[in-house]
Amino acid sequence: MLIKSLKLKGFKSFADETEIKFSEGINCIVGPNGCGKSNIVDALKWIVGDKSAKGIRADNQKDVIFKGSEGRRAARSAEVTITLLKNDLFDVGEPTIEIKRKVKSTGDSEFFINGRKVRLKDIQEFFASIGLGNRDYAFFEQGQIDKILKIKPHERRELIDEAAGITVFKEKKEATLKE
Ligand code: ATP
Ligand code: MG
Repeated sequence: MLIKSLKLKGFKSFADETEIKFSEGINCIVGPNGCGKSNIVDALKWIVGDKSAKGIRADNQKDVIFKGSEGRRAARSAEVTITLLKNDLFDVGEPTIEIKRKVKSTGDSEFFINGRKVRLKDIQEFFASIGLGNRDYAFFEQGQIDKILKIKPHERRELIDEAAGITVFKEKKEATLKE
């Protein structure tokens, strides 16, 4: 899977709908301080299902909504849409998958996969199955390499499990055993 594009609307400093197109290989985002580079990373973390507001540098979920600026009213909702391109030769059907997350000023959230309304759990499971879970390993921020070197062996094992895409099965097994 490749990230084809990320669309932000009313998300943090992106009041207007903004589409960021990615190409194959390494992509770099450059710009002056405060222009919104980290907000783009926050949007990526948010769309893969980050539940903690802290992880996306917000006090609560509603804080991701554009809060207005001089001469510009606050947005009523924030939306992030990610378009993924399937690059598996054996994959059939549509070549792209579109996932959308929306939060309204009431704090209510909505999640969609290819326009179909789903639960947060569904998008988290989907991203975990392609190795882009909302846990630590997919996003490396300052200080994180240090942290990974210092964690306990079983915690490191959890990261490897997720990278290999088997965490989702382990969680399903645990949930089934509990029922
Ligand atoms: P640096 O180079 O310093 O790391 P950056 O490009 O990563 O900067 P960001 O942290 O992405 O910058 O953006 C910070 C800006 O986003 C700040 O100006 C902040 O006011 C703005 N911002 C954050 N949340 C909101 C919001 N909900 N509504 C409007 N603006 C917001
Ligand atoms: Mg930054």
